[in-house]
Amino acid sequence: MKRMKHILAAFDLDDTLFHECDYVLSGRRAVARHFARRLGLDESGLLQAMDNCPVRGPEAFDALHKLLAPDGIAIGEIIEVYRSHKPDISLSPEAEDVLSQLQAAGINLALITDGRSIGQRLKFEALGLERFFAPEAVIISEELGADKLRPLPFRTLESLYPDAVQRFYIGDNPAKDFREARKLGWRTVMLADSTQTNIHSRNLHSVPPENRPETVLLSLTDAIPLITRNKVL
Ligand SMILES: [Mg+2]
Repeated sequence: MKRMKHILAAFDLDDTLFHECDYVLSGRRAVARHFARRLGLDESGLLQAMDNCPVRGPEAFDALHKLLAPDGIAIGEIIEVYRSHKPDISLSPEAEDVLSQLQAAGINLALITDGRSIGQRLKFEALGLERFFAPEAVIISEELGADKLRPLPFRTLESLYPDAVQRFYIGDNPAKDFREARKLGWRTVMLADSTQTNIHSRNLHSVPPENRPETVLLSLTDAIPLITRNKVL
């Protein structure tokens, strides 16, 4: 098959290639395991303490911290264990299939993700994403010093693939995934939350028009024809 080198498909990571709620649960299990062993406490009790907590923000570990504070555990230690844990997550079969097919079709694959380097790198490793993404095509906001609400992540990939005649960004969060990509003339694709488990809202009415994606897909698999039908022979 003739290989096409003229299309760039950049993906978001969390809630695009895997379910972020799986990461949250994995992190909570790691935290419960760590402190149960260290302090000789019941692991399931520590896990339960986090059941009704928000998954993000300052209150995420408040309830657990109340239990552990008498043992001299600071909230910062809990957060550190969570952020540096080796996540028990995997690529969905659908994401695996989509990345494999696009790679086989000669599409340039890239990743733009916002977050801390340590956490995003640990997710990247756990998902085995080095099979699909070249090291230079992995853009993590903390490492770059700019998040997706600035043009730099997208500009960085444009300079890496100057011959790309079509560029796609595939993400899930209209609050920040599509605005800058659209301004730069990229095609923007949002995955609808079919399982209703996403961490961020995908309500398109809650964001200004310039934040909205060009295309909404019900399934990541639908990205294959969308991206490859435009390939330049
Ligand atoms: Mg996301």
